Amino acid sequence: MPLRPFVVLNLDEARFECTFGRGCDGICCHNGRPPVYPEERDRIDAVLPRILPLMRSSARKLVERDGYFSRRMKAGQPSLRVDAGWCVFFNHGCVLHKLGIEEGDPFRYKPCICSLFPLDRRADKSWYVRQRGYAGEIWDLPCLTPGGSTPQAAISLHDELALASRIHSGSG
Ligand code: SF4
Ligand code: SF4
Repeated sequence: MPLRPFVVLNLDEARFECTFGRGCDGICCHNGRPPVYPEERDRIDAVLPRILPLMRSSARKLVERDGYFSRRMKAGQPSLRVDAGWCVFFNHGCVLHKLGIEEGDPFRYKPCICSLFPLDRRADKSWYVRQRGYAGEIWDLPCLTPGGSTPQAAISLHDELALASRIHSGSG
């Protein structure tokens, strides 16, 4: 079957701005339990000795003792563990993101679902930008309720859109 063109359904009207460090403390990682696919797990495991020192001490102890997966499954995959209400990899920001930036690619170690946020895919594989009032969005994050001065998602999500396009090309 020919590959459907990469289309983001509401890209013309969607607006988004991540204000982490400028008003948002990273609440999307609060109780965050993203699923982790096997190839993502392999990438994390390969650099875990470098990740551990970047983590909160309680999260590091937990991960050293019990690993970084919770008992919960999401999308058929194991999901990350939470410590003290935050994803174990959160420490004033995502340590997987920070390590990736050090190596020139912020998406290198983060679970795909975190890297793509707020882009998501419907069951029919069409892409859209998560926004309050669109596609039944229920997450009440302020960044999903943009105002008129919020940048257009087509511009602010340049890197995420490029990643989604690559994933789309690979998976159909
Ligand atoms: S994506 Fe939204 S909730 Fe997450 S850090 Fe950015 S502004 Fe905060
Ligand atoms: S992996 Fe990183 S971006 Fe994803 S929930 Fe955990 S801290 Fe947040």
